[in-house]
Amino acid sequence: MGIIDNTATDPNKILPLRYAWARGYYKAGVANNWVPEEVSMQKDVEQWKAPDVISADERRLILWNLGFFSTAESLTANNIVLAVYAHVTNPECRQYLLRQAFEEAIHTDTFIYCCDSLGLDPDEIYTMYRTIPSIERKDAMVIEMTRSIVAPGFTTATAQGVRDLLHDLVGYYVIMEGIFFYAGFAMMLALKRQNKMVGVGEQFEFIMRDESVHLAFGSDLINAIKAEHPHSWTPAFQDELIDLIRRGVEMEAAYARDACPRGLLGINADQFAAYVEYIADRRMERIGLPRQYGRDNPFPWMAQTIDLNKEKNFFETRVTEYQTAGSLTWD
Ligand code: MN
Ligand code: FE
Repeated sequence: MGIIDNTATDPNKILPLRYAWARGYYKAGVANNWVPEEVSMQKDVEQWKAPDVISADERRLILWNLGFFSTAESLTANNIVLAVYAHVTNPECRQYLLRQAFEEAIHTDTFIYCCDSLGLDPDEIYTMYRTIPSIERKDAMVIEMTRSIVAPGFTTATAQGVRDLLHDLVGYYVIMEGIFFYAGFAMMLALKRQNKMVGVGEQFEFIMRDESVHLAFGSDLINAIKAEHPHSWTPAFQDELIDLIRRGVEMEAAYARDACPRGLLGINADQFAAYVEYIADRRMERIGLPRQYGRDNPFPWMAQTIDLNKEKNFFETRVTEYQTAGSLTWD
């Protein structure tokens, strides 16, 4: 019994655990529970309606990020439920996949909540995956990466089948959630640091915290499959993955340049592109691929945002009410 390809009954036998890390991520997800309605949008609505608070460039960037994420979250959920779940048959991994699928539903709900509160035109936001070329390209890339594993007759019984599954996992966990989400996160959190659209910004912080767990799970999953199927992890396949990730980085940099051509709050589009290269190196190292860019982090505050947010969640906001006793350390 391994992490993939179990018999029909094995997926129900969760104890004893084989992959304690998967169980750990499930617990982390539950401890981080939140829903968008906990975040007040009142100040955002006032700023959005005011003629002179949010500039035209900022509005465009906000709309683009809402447009990208509104459909990207359900793309990710669909990949988990319709593609990954069928092949990752280990029970504790499946428990986490169910948790992640629920979080993607929360994230999808977040963008419904943002559209409703700000009074945005859903036909504009929810068609950006077709009307904005740099969003369309990102979505098309990950949809393409899932094609082989949803094909009828697909099996992981062959080394090529395992590679196709890894290809999908790299597509969604590394490229989609790990790279395509991060220029948007940086833009929205940069706005929040200037006290602009703080409700939307706080929701992006919660999503980013969840995504950091999704990424960690996905990387451990990829590494476990590699360890159990070392023959599938050929040098040629690694080169193929590096090429795909590099293409993803270029697409994300292009998206950042399109979304804020004149920069934002003193940050220029090149810095967003450098940030994407910096995080791509970290993602690649995590799954045993060589770093490609060697950038320093241009936004050290992004890491601090995650840490500070955690502290705030633990001690101030209503999210703490969801914390289970076991995951809190009160003094
Ligand atoms: Mn998500
Ligand atoms: Fe996710």
